[in-house]
This record gives sequence, C-alpha cells and structure tokens, in this order.
Amino acid sequence: MKRKLPLVIAALLVFVGLLAVQLNPGAHAAAAAADADPGVGEHLVGVDVDAVDWKAKDNTYWEAALTPAQYQVCRKAGTERPFTGATLNNKKDGVFACSSCGQPLFPAETKFESGTGWPSFYAPVSEESVTINADVSMGMLREEVVCSRCDAHLGHVFNDGPKPTGKRYCINSVCLLRQDAPAADAKPQASPSAGHSQDDGHGH
Ligand SMILES: [Zn+2]
Repeated sequence: MKRKLPLVIAALLVFVGLLAVQLNPGAHAAAAAADADPGVGEHLVGVDVDAVDWKAKDNTYWEAALTPAQYQVCRKAGTERPFTGATLNNKKDGVFACSSCGQPLFPAETKFESGTGWPSFYAPVSEESVTINADVSMGMLREEVVCSRCDAHLGHVFNDGPKPTGKRYCINSVCLLRQDAPAADAKPQASPSAGHSQDDGHGH
C-alpha cells in the first residue's frame, strides 16, 4: 500500500505540469506582439530619458543596464539572429525608440515587411535621430545606423527599400522599444481629437 504514495505524487506532478503547459501558449502569443524583447528597456523605467547625458555613459554602465543580448548587439555592433526579435511583427501604431536611451527613432508607419527577418523601416523620425557611419567590416562596404543620442549600434541602411525614400533601415529588434507616439512634442494638445496620424508637416 505504501508504495502507491509516490505514484500518486508523481501523477499529481504530471497533472500540474500539464496545466502549466496549457497556460503557456497564451504567454507565447502575447510575446509575439511584444513591444520589446524580453527584459529590454527595464533600465529606462522611471527615468527621465531626455534629461540624461547618454553619451557620457561608459561600457560598465551599459553592460550592467542592458540585457546580455542587447549589450552584444547595441554596444558591440553585433547582429541578432533573423526572425527572433520580439518587435519584428509588431504592427502597432506609435514610434520605435532606441532601447538604450529611449530616443524616438522610427515611426511605426514607416515599418514594412522586408522578408529579411529584421524589423525594417523606410525612414527615421528625423534626419537628426540617427547617425550614418561607413562600415567596412565583414569585407563589405555598408552604412551603419547609430542612435544619435547614445551612439547605440542599431543596424544598417540599404538602398533597396520601398517608396517614398527607397531606403531600407534594417534594424535589430533588440535595439528597439515600441512606444506610443509622443503627443506633447508634435502638437499643442489643444483639441482632444487626435484622430488622424498622418503628419506630413515634419518632412525634413
Ligand atoms: Zn539611443
């Protein structure tokens, strides 16, 4: 009789395990539409990102603040594996900001399906938001895209993008943090009706 007790416990454990598996698919579905890769952006919570001198931060700071994957890509100019980023299929409105310093980088409406496995955009928020550097690594001449506020490596820009710019900003998901569009900056917020998101008024 006593021998059966461990069996009962084992059966219970299996049952609990199955329950956990049942609950998990929902969590995965949520991750597919995540606004950032796991753990990314946590160092910005509660921080006034516009008041920080991000270029003064050293490697020690970044290594402690960022996730290991984020540090490798954004600070060591690495490349994440394609089709792995949480923001790849994020279609929400708003803006994709730098995951290192929170600066708005790419409007969601410039995001397009490139088939490369990396989030792709045809234009940044403004010419000033990104810096373009010549990159001769890996035996190729490429144009590296860097955040102008914190010097984070973001990805590369190519000339095979869609209209209207013909540019393809190929950006690592881990360097991005989707946010709702900044309202205070663009409009005085006088009228409560902010229905249309077509603002061509900022075309630089
Ligand atoms: Zn940045």
